[in-house]
Amino acid sequence: MEYKEDRECNDFNLPPEGISADKRNKIFMNQLEFFKEQKKNFLGYQVNQCINHEEIIKQFFNLHINNVGDPFEKGNMTINSKPMEQAVLDYYAKLLNATTPYDPNNGESYWGYTLSMGSTQGNFSAIFNARDYLGGKVLLKYEEDKRVIKLNSRNSKCTRLTENLVCYQAEIPKNNRNAYTPVAFYSQDTHYSIFKATRVLNFQTFYELGSANYECPLNYPDDYPDGFSQNHLGENNWPIKVPSNRDGSINIPILVKLVEFFVKKGHPIYICFNYGTTFKGAYDNVQEAVNALVPILKENNMYEREITYIQNNEIKKIKRNGFWFHVDGALGVAYMPLIEKAIEKGLITLPENYKFPYFDFRIPEIHSIVMSIYKWIGSPISFGLFMTKIKHQISIPRDPMYIGSPETAFSGSRNGLAPIILWNFLAKHSEEEQIRMALHTEMLAQYAESKLKELQQKSNIDLWVERSPLALTIRFRKPNKSIIFKYSLSCETTYVNDEQRSYAHIFTMGHVSQDLIDRLVNDLNKPDAFVESLEG
Ligand SMILES: *Cc1c(COP(=O)(O)O)cnc(C)c1O
Repeated sequence: MEYKEDRECNDFNLPPEGISADKRNKIFMNQLEFFKEQKKNFLGYQVNQCINHEEIIKQFFNLHINNVGDPFEKGNMTINSKPMEQAVLDYYAKLLNATTPYDPNNGESYWGYTLSMGSTQGNFSAIFNARDYLGGKVLLKYEEDKRVIKLNSRNSKCTRLTENLVCYQAEIPKNNRNAYTPVAFYSQDTHYSIFKATRVLNFQTFYELGSANYECPLNYPDDYPDGFSQNHLGENNWPIKVPSNRDGSINIPILVKLVEFFVKKGHPIYICFNYGTTFKGAYDNVQEAVNALVPILKENNMYEREITYIQNNEIKKIKRNGFWFHVDGALGVAYMPLIEKAIEKGLITLPENYKFPYFDFRIPEIHSIVMSIYKWIGSPISFGLFMTKIKHQISIPRDPMYIGSPETAFSGSRNGLAPIILWNFLAKHSEEEQIRMALHTEMLAQYAESKLKELQQKSNIDLWVERSPLALTIRFRKPNKSIIFKYSLSCETTYVNDEQRSYAHIFTMGHVSQDLIDRLVNDLNKPDAFVESLEG
């Protein structure tokens, strides 16, 4: 099999005198040819390569469009696409059953913004907000509270953040020193951006706190799910992350046990659920988890609690949850609401013994949801959406509870092209058409699963072919390098029980055809396809 070389930096060397137009053109053509070739066989990542925005979007290319700041505050940067941004936010808020339209005077109303990065930025936003929300921070406006701040700063009760932004730290109650020390929970199958965000934002995980201070409430192996590997156990026999089921979804009984352990010690709780995990494409059953967690939170006064602070010499109280439930729905949030509609219309049936995993704002306990919308719609640039409710925002311009800065979006400059691309997609494709698109990708995933299982039956090696319920991805034994390069396959090493396995996976995104899947299966059927992984 031919092994195609990738491009090197040398092909693009930049001499001080620059490069002539002719030569530039040739270099660009080569680059484009390479991309086009790779696009023909693109199967390994969850991005739709079917992109048709060019004729509309190129008209906006000779402009700098910047949505800096809050999407609902126009500001003086007039070359912005904020009104379009508001329209796409409203569209998704409705799809996710949030309270719409956006209303700054209604705490239940949704609030959100388009991310200039994908879900990574959204996960940072959620953890940032949750840390201060659960940590008992209250934002005050400097101008109004100069005197109080002076007074309080002597008792180190206030922290000044910027020139006009001040944060009041609620006093830690004497009967619970953990009241404002939140603990983060996320599963083994969680994207690394969550781990990164907890590090950057100095947010403690249950493992860090638990392994340093307590005996683990779980016993190995009795309390652990089928397939769990000892490699995921850390110090003092604590699991490093919340164990997942074999399909990649979070194990709810274990999550409940771990949460109960920390809630009983007085800690507020942050949980990151997954809706379409990166490698296995699994959906956490968020509704089921919330149903199991709410009674425990209520019993331990963590469902709703009072935060006391001082403003203008007056003692004030606000009510907040002692938990934050976040959904990282990088891929799944974009199409699973469409699949739900297709199920209602009888266009697709659920796998046997599988309940639809509800996850959205119909569950009142959900605080935030993010998605990397570019993965699903097909877009030349990556971007995402972050959604929460006004009442949970720690920095809201007009909320009477907190008075803070309008720099609510975390990122400074925000890409103004992103909302235009998304608006174009949503205006062009009716909901019915989008449901058809979602069904098409599900059907292709079923097709790929059956073709790979057929291959497995013919083959004399175990190809470990697996697909989690309703996932758009199928995983199998990692093939040789040239197949990985040809189809841009993403690979991961995991443990099944204590056996270390190297997998590859494919995603059946919008641009994928049966023919492409057939070509892959054909290559996987060749004698040398799995030589490397069998040799170790
Ligand atoms: C892709 C992905 C992310 C990160 O998204 P970016 O668009 O790369 O920022 C986060 N979580 C999950 C589950 C993902 O699949």
